[in-house]
Amino acid sequence: MGIISVKDLDLQGKRVLVRTDYNVPIDKNGRIGDDTRIVASLPTITYILEHGGMPILISHLGRPEGKSEALTLRPVADRLAALLPKNRVIFVSDVCGKEAEERAAMMQPGEILLLENVRFHLAEEHPERDPTFAEAIAQLGDLYVNDAFGTAHRAHSSTVHLAHYFPGKAAMGLLMEQEVRFLEQAMKQPKRPFYAIIGGAKVSTKIGVLTSLARTVDALFLGGCMAYTFLKAKGISMGSSRVEENMLKKAEEVMRICSERAIPLFLPKDIVSATRFADDAAQRICDIPPGIPDGYEGMDIGPNTIQEWTSSLQGAEMILWNGPVGVFEFPNFSTGTNAIAHAVADCSRAVTIVGGGDSIAALKAARVYDAITHVSTGGGASLEYIEFGTLPGIEALR
Ligand code: AMP
Repeated sequence: MGIISVKDLDLQGKRVLVRTDYNVPIDKNGRIGDDTRIVASLPTITYILEHGGMPILISHLGRPEGKSEALTLRPVADRLAALLPKNRVIFVSDVCGKEAEERAAMMQPGEILLLENVRFHLAEEHPERDPTFAEAIAQLGDLYVNDAFGTAHRAHSSTVHLAHYFPGKAAMGLLMEQEVRFLEQAMKQPKRPFYAIIGGAKVSTKIGVLTSLARTVDALFLGGCMAYTFLKAKGISMGSSRVEENMLKKAEEVMRICSERAIPLFLPKDIVSATRFADDAAQRICDIPPGIPDGYEGMDIGPNTIQEWTSSLQGAEMILWNGPVGVFEFPNFSTGTNAIAHAVADCSRAVTIVGGGDSIAALKAARVYDAITHVSTGGGASLEYIEFGTLPGIEALR
């Protein structure tokens, strides 16, 4: 596809700038909550080391809006050192400038440099403010590898502009390749039947994805809050549920695509509703139709929906899941999302792709994470890839 892989680069003796995604949860004591993204970066780092290259790692963490000690990447350097005990991990307190240049120049084979949070410079998120920023980082390396799939939907200095300083020497990392391979297969040559389950809070943030999926999948399952907008568009009463009135037409459009393609659109056939948005609220199960009465709002898919969806998913050869089907943060309304996590994991014959922080948390809570074929490290990035078929960080490598 006109993009080279880190495997195509001559790495021997080269300083390799690697854009990773170390945007991990870190508490105020510097403890890392979930190191999935750090672990996911290891294959590329190890590959570079084994082929004689010297990795110089660049990442952002959070949204510091300038320098912020709370968002230093130092704890990530410690975790990397623990994960790669045979290598020396050196932390540098700025992503460019004198110290970074000196450290990079002194690097020895087997060493890894981790540069401080690239977003400490405002030009990272606003490349137009300082076009020399990417150039200053480019000074440090001979080659560029983008392995930050989770940030590839952002056209930032280190994800897009930096690549332009390495014509013919800018490549995808192994994680990026894996992410793209699964999503590309899903959207271009899916194993069929291919089913997608989309949940979450809003139709408005996922409308492009829903449209794209409606044109591709063999069945679409819509849960979470967004399903209420679809049901309302069908004329079903949704009580006090959060409905996006301005998305009713868009919902109709998705339903029209499904019916033109004669594919089933599964909407909840029963909904667990509550008198208020709280875990301990009084609840009742409402059949659809007739719908949710006034004074109640939808919180989770109901037992009949769980049963129907679980059995319908069983014939799948490929499944994509993004977004909780209920307010899973409240234990009393997490049953649906938990059941979906199990149902997807139980489809052992299917290629299963799960993205989005909430769905991943649900997989972990259900202890079925390892049963999934591909868990994406980028929720937002995977959705944009599904919608547009590529991402700015990928195109920059072309
Ligand atoms: P998203 O980021 O769009 O995937 O949305 C995730 C959020 O959707 C989670 O915080 C869920 O609690 C929320 N959500 C899912 N179902 C509902 C619902 N029925 N009512 C309110 N929020 C919901």
